[in-house]
Amino acid sequence: MIELQGIGIGQGVAIGRVLRMPEPLPEPVTTRSTLDPDAELARATASMHVVAEDLEARGERAGGTAQEVLEAQAMMAEDPTLIEEVTSRLHKHQTAERAVFEAFATFRDQMLALGGYLGERAADLDDVAQRVIANLGGLPAPGVPDPAEAFVLVAHDLAPADTALLNLDKVLGLITIDGGPTSHTAILAREKSITAIVGTHAAAQLADGDEVIIDAANGIVLVAPSAKQLAEARARILAREARALAPIGPGRLKDGIPVPLLANLGSADGAAKAVALGAEGVGLFRTEFLFLDSTSAPTVTQQREQYERMLREFPGQKVVVRALDAGADKPLAFLNDAAEENPALGLRGLRALRASEDILREQLTALAEADAATDADLWVMAPMVSTVEEAAYFTALAHELGLKTAGVMVEVPSAALLADRILAQTDFASIGTNDLTQYTLAADRMLGSVAAFQDPWHPAVLRLVGEVGAAGASLGKPVGVCGEAAADPLLAVVLVGLGATTLSMSASALADVRASLADFTLEQARHLAAAALTADGAASARAAATAIAHSYTSTAPTGTGPTVLTTPERGTQK
Ligand code: PEP
Ligand code: MG
Repeated sequence: MIELQGIGIGQGVAIGRVLRMPEPLPEPVTTRSTLDPDAELARATASMHVVAEDLEARGERAGGTAQEVLEAQAMMAEDPTLIEEVTSRLHKHQTAERAVFEAFATFRDQMLALGGYLGERAADLDDVAQRVIANLGGLPAPGVPDPAEAFVLVAHDLAPADTALLNLDKVLGLITIDGGPTSHTAILAREKSITAIVGTHAAAQLADGDEVIIDAANGIVLVAPSAKQLAEARARILAREARALAPIGPGRLKDGIPVPLLANLGSADGAAKAVALGAEGVGLFRTEFLFLDSTSAPTVTQQREQYERMLREFPGQKVVVRALDAGADKPLAFLNDAAEENPALGLRGLRALRASEDILREQLTALAEADAATDADLWVMAPMVSTVEEAAYFTALAHELGLKTAGVMVEVPSAALLADRILAQTDFASIGTNDLTQYTLAADRMLGSVAAFQDPWHPAVLRLVGEVGAAGASLGKPVGVCGEAAADPLLAVVLVGLGATTLSMSASALADVRASLADFTLEQARHLAAAALTADGAASARAAATAIAHSYTSTAPTGTGPTVLTTPERGTQK
């Protein structure tokens, strides 16, 4: 048995035999074209158009986030600057195939160099190029194999067009060799609840027919598993299926204490699914996702329409909207115009908004207007708050502009350490564990080489969460958690034990977290938290909490299994 490490997406477990994605088309030859440049250009643009239309059509079939991704790809296929790049190469008598290959590669390299969110879009460009080159050669579009038997798909990094239309009856699970937790593959896999592991570098050694277990909760792939491991995995699959069928009720602990379970959304599109999965409101609405492609600031009217559309989906329920969190991995052209050496430590979040206060005022005005026109319970919060003064500033401004409940995200260690003083200035706190982990462990959350440090189980992160929880309890102010940590069923219990009063996550995680909370009383959750806090590192914190959880429940809590105990310590340093 071999164990491969990757980054698990969600909590799924899958068992199956590997089928690898076919290798990409060979690089087009560099020989001089026998056609004149205009004839080659006609060929190239015709193929680019066919590919754009095909991607649009796939988008319409897929709907939701997938449609947005595929539409963005369709636009890449006919991007005028790319066509200019292709044309200039055709005038040097390259073939259409070669010119397309080189032009797209140039753009891909530029995106990779930019890194962050844009860097992770580079794979999308490669896919478009492959599709155009295949069309030029009269070949079928590259894509997922379609054998008679169900299989586990292994690919370098799946193109959005392929992930969006994966046949879930055939594809039992997905392993990618490249890709990070925020790649499109990961985003779409999460949305479609596909059992997936990304960034599994060692998966390059997997061959067709290898039997594997994908254990997304623990971020591992077991190759050639033993009979015992197979039996354990089957039991976990069955338990998860049973939980998905369990009646949907509000989040609560075993002793009946409510822990409202909220959804993280990036647009109104995911709202219906979140409601169907039992979301009791929205704990994080990421407004910057609405404007990632905008070159100028959206108007108050444009914004109000978007916010109203989303608020209408949650009548009478709490909806926490975050002010634009621009910068670092999510740059917005109209807010972040200066080049920065270390953008995660730069003018991002509330800092960027204060530097362009008119944009912040307009956003809060649009939100207040949307609030007045709908009957959701709207709360607003500021991202990347690092000082007490910033918390006071944002809260006062939001109140001044008519918003009744204004709070701050705790994503920077300084805000966690001074949580009592910050909470004294504001209405609530919401802990963003993705950034809080990044800044506590000093490890770029987008960088594969330090991904092992990005583990919110680290006791340093948990101690900071505990500071915020204690401050909230003593001041009687709500403390939510809206980072990915809240989607880990056992960690969710620990977070509640540390004082979180609500949890917000991708809608696909709600069922597992709801089931896990119902297994523990508040006192037990506090014991789990205390055990995790005494550990030296992330893996031992998780192991300590798992051991205590086992002593309280006869079956393992959701998403955790004995393999957790053997996972090497992650994210710790000597
Ligand atoms: C976080 O940092 O945990 C968070 C929820 O915000 P984002 O992931 O959008 O930075
Ligand atoms: Mg954040």
